[in-house]
Amino acid sequence: MLKIDPSHQGLYWKDLVSQSITFPDALARVLAVDAQAMARVAEKYPLCINPYFFSLIKEPGDPLWRQAVPDIAELDQDNDLTPDPLAEEPQSPVPNLIHRYPDRVVFMVSDQCALYCRHCMRKRRTGRGKTVSRKAVDAGIAYIRATPSVRDVILSGGDPLMLGDRRLESLLSQIRQISHVEIIRIHTRMPGALPARIDKALAGLLKRFHPLYVNIQFNHPDEITPEAAVACAVLADAGIPLGSQTVLLAGVNDDPEVMMTLMRRLLEIRVRPYYIHHADPVEGTRHFRTSIETGLAIMAYLRGRLSGMGVPQYMIDLPGGGGKVPLLPEYVLGTGPRTLKVRNFEGRVFRYPLR
Ligand SMILES: *Cc1c(COP(=O)(O)O)cnc(C)c1O
Repeated sequence: MLKIDPSHQGLYWKDLVSQSITFPDALARVLAVDAQAMARVAEKYPLCINPYFFSLIKEPGDPLWRQAVPDIAELDQDNDLTPDPLAEEPQSPVPNLIHRYPDRVVFMVSDQCALYCRHCMRKRRTGRGKTVSRKAVDAGIAYIRATPSVRDVILSGGDPLMLGDRRLESLLSQIRQISHVEIIRIHTRMPGALPARIDKALAGLLKRFHPLYVNIQFNHPDEITPEAAVACAVLADAGIPLGSQTVLLAGVNDDPEVMMTLMRRLLEIRVRPYYIHHADPVEGTRHFRTSIETGLAIMAYLRGRLSGMGVPQYMIDLPGGGGKVPLLPEYVLGTGPRTLKVRNFEGRVFRYPLR
């Protein structure tokens, strides 16, 4: 398989973004894929693989390939799947801002990414070529300013770190000027998808807006490269607490050992596992879906084999905008008059006094 020379180290991140594979023909020139099939998929769901992430793909169908290379299965019809199952659009009081919980909002400040994940929960909108206008951003800021219950602003997208440092700085300082906003979160895939984006200048900029948290999407241990480790170290050294959000994906990480290795590697680079998301029932992602049992079995496996700090919560997000719910393997087997019957991580049964 042809490789793009990873001698892109030291290149400015925007140059790497501009060297991304975005045309089906270009992809068919470097990978053994059918250009026509790629074109049919990419017409509906855009394609973008930056040279860094491309260099991590080892062979057809591997976990990184599955996340990045279009699959004709994205066009399969499935009546259980819809473009916006979580009702994000109806829960948007202004365009690009989702207000579901009283105290926090998701503010989608970019519709671009350095990698278009094939499993994206926002496939309906990501990468459609229209950038989020300044007007939309201003409307979002005005909404947050006028809504005192909002304590937590989550910058998302797309990938918010697709904004350049200057726009990011202006956005963050406007949000920080709102006195009821207590914390800011940035939800990004950049440290694993395009680590060159994370440099000292960015970390220096972000740390001026503390308390600021960064949650990163990492789905497979192969994404934890030396470059990704450096990116996370730069952010952690700026005092930014790092969390991970992993999506449970068939053929990528639906395996207890793979998931355990991922969580261990994350702890090693100072990223605290936050959530494993069960994949949302989004149109075009059927081939990524796993059963809930698979997720619960992974959670049961992690507990007891991994530092508690490395065990994330396993979440489903309710259709219709009901919000996130954590799922746990069954530990409580029953309640007696005085005792609770519980199972430990090895499956042994114990009784615990109720009070
Ligand atoms: C996931 C999500 C949040 C954040 O939820 P946390 O559990 O606080 O991380 C906020 N708003 C919306 C719409 C979400 O989907």
